[in-house]
Amino acid sequence: MFVQNNSIRSAKAYMQDRLKEQFSASELRQIVRESICHRLNLSPSDYMLSDDQLLSESDLLFLRSIVKRLLNHEPFQYIIGSAQFCDLIIKTDARALIPRPETEELVNWISSHFNATQRLKVLDLCTGSGCIALALKHINPAWDVAGIDLSSQAIDLSNENAKNIDLQVDFRVGDVLKGECLAQFENESIDCIVSNPPYIPESDRVQMEKNVLQHEPEMALFVSDQDPLIFYRAIGFSAMKLLKPLGMVFFEIHENLGGKTTELMREIGFVNIELRKDLQGKNRMLMLQKP
Ligand code: GLN
Repeated sequence: MFVQNNSIRSAKAYMQDRLKEQFSASELRQIVRESICHRLNLSPSDYMLSDDQLLSESDLLFLRSIVKRLLNHEPFQYIIGSAQFCDLIIKTDARALIPRPETEELVNWISSHFNATQRLKVLDLCTGSGCIALALKHINPAWDVAGIDLSSQAIDLSNENAKNIDLQVDFRVGDVLKGECLAQFENESIDCIVSNPPYIPESDRVQMEKNVLQHEPEMALFVSDQDPLIFYRAIGFSAMKLLKPLGMVFFEIHENLGGKTTELMREIGFVNIELRKDLQGKNRMLMLQKP
């Protein structure tokens, strides 16, 4: 046996002990709590009073398999199969990036910029799990939202998410770099384009965590060192064609490329460009307007 007895108290002690080298104390508390609450369907307040509750053998094996997968650097959200994003439960697996907190900030910026009752047409490029498109639709039910991704697996996942959450978003496969996939959207019909495209230069790999490098899809993360703004350029030019006059673009960006991305967007012809920091104080979001 790997636990002293079947109580939640000993399961917690076992998880804490096996994982203490890999996570900080506060990360570990959260992982243990979420694992147990997820498995037993406990609310956070039930959890606090649950130490003496007994677990079944299969509950214990489940927790042990979580520990093994975490020791193999698999991200917790992939193991549990979901992540919280803007009040939504987004299904997550290796088909797309795990939704990040800084991307919630982007969604909030977009929502606060517009009036929720306007009937906007919004396009989310490189949609991945669909988290941005779905959160925008959830917050602004009157909007007409579509999402595009090159990966048909990501589009399968985003459609599963739309179905699970019961939101109407049009997800399609398409190559944003080629732009032809956008021909289906009439010229000058879109009010807002949003994108969190791949933006990490290959050379950043050395400073990245194993859980990202070994488990999240590379195509969603990396761009070449030679042309790290390749997606922003392609999307910028497409946006100029597709957006209505005064239409908006919102980007998530690499923290070190705020200046360069701003300059590129000015060259393409955008105005009223605003760079924003995320809660960690890093340049992370860009808003721009078509004249
Ligand atoms: N922000 C993500 C990360 O740090 C990267 C997202 C992206 O490349 N679009 O892993």
